[in-house]
Amino acid sequence: MSRQDWPTWLPIRDELRDLSPYGAPQLELPIRLNTNENPYQVSERLQSALQSAISKTLRNLNRYPDRDALELRSALARSITDSTGMPIDENWIWAANGSNEIIQSIDLAFAGDALGFEPSYSMHPIIARTVGKKWHAIERDANFQVDLESAQHAIDSTGARLVFLTTPNNPTGNALSITAIEELARFTFERGALLVVDEAYAEFSSQPSAVSLLRAYPNLLVIRTMSKAFAFAGARLGYLIADPKVIAAMLLVRLPYHLSSLTQAAVLAAIELRAELTRDIDSIRSARGDLTKELTQLGLKVYPSEANFLLFTGFSGTSHDLWQRLTAQGVLIRDVGIANHLRVTIGTRSENRAFLDAISELVRG
Ligand code: PMP
Repeated sequence: MSRQDWPTWLPIRDELRDLSPYGAPQLELPIRLNTNENPYQVSERLQSALQSAISKTLRNLNRYPDRDALELRSALARSITDSTGMPIDENWIWAANGSNEIIQSIDLAFAGDALGFEPSYSMHPIIARTVGKKWHAIERDANFQVDLESAQHAIDSTGARLVFLTTPNNPTGNALSITAIEELARFTFERGALLVVDEAYAEFSSQPSAVSLLRAYPNLLVIRTMSKAFAFAGARLGYLIADPKVIAAMLLVRLPYHLSSLTQAAVLAAIELRAELTRDIDSIRSARGDLTKELTQLGLKVYPSEANFLLFTGFSGTSHDLWQRLTAQGVLIRDVGIANHLRVTIGTRSENRAFLDAISELVRG
């Protein structure tokens, strides 16, 4: 809906007038490689574990859930300690309905303008604006990397207090080195700003997690999600790993009982069987290499990716044109709004084959 569509009787806030709702097209096509989910379905074993965990909560659905989700947060803390070696407990974790809710709580809790390095995840600016924050878009360099010097200059010149960094970045796939992240954490700390590192795709990356820097930099916030590598997008669970003082601020802005008993039970059962949920990460990474090779052989330029998607360019015609032709063949990928570029999520072997067959014909033809 655009500006002129708002009727005069509706007192819509000025900051919202020109916004469009988040809009990945939801088309029921046979091959859907547009929202960076893990393409593998929940295993039978996990389905039964989930059923039994959820059924145990049913009798008590007359009661509110644990407002602070303590058991869930402890389980997430143990899982992060196992995977990163960083010893933390539930006081270092906050959990919500997807990492989008985490981003919203951060914007609600902390003062000042927000800044991010674009192109990046489109919800960072949208959520900042919906809570009334000013958003500063800082351009990445020609290879979509964050240049440290211009980042520092931008932080100083805007005075932003919330600095968002997505790594690996969506939609470009590249990651920032841990030394550069540490430099930004130090720089923002000295300026009284927070560095929010969105690690939605970290499990697909070979780079170390920013979690390893948390004890040294209390102004560092790391966001994770179960929607991508964990193959659990439908359950809606994102979480924040940060200094206990930051977590204490999350409790001030959360809605009471925001995480349902059903979600808490399902996620606890899933964490218990996390090896099952993450078992396909290696094959997704290897399919990423194969897909890169095959797209390159078609004459396309593919950006190196540390995530479960690829950004590519080098085709003739517009992004929208190629996107539409692929859609007509039953293959849904993503037009991310970068001229002459498209993004494809790594699917199963057969989905990737179907995408390659369709695009080969279009690019060659
Ligand atoms: N951060 C990034 C970088 C993302 O790409 C996404 C989803 N596309 C999210 C956060 C939100 O994920 P969710 O709310 O499902 O956790």
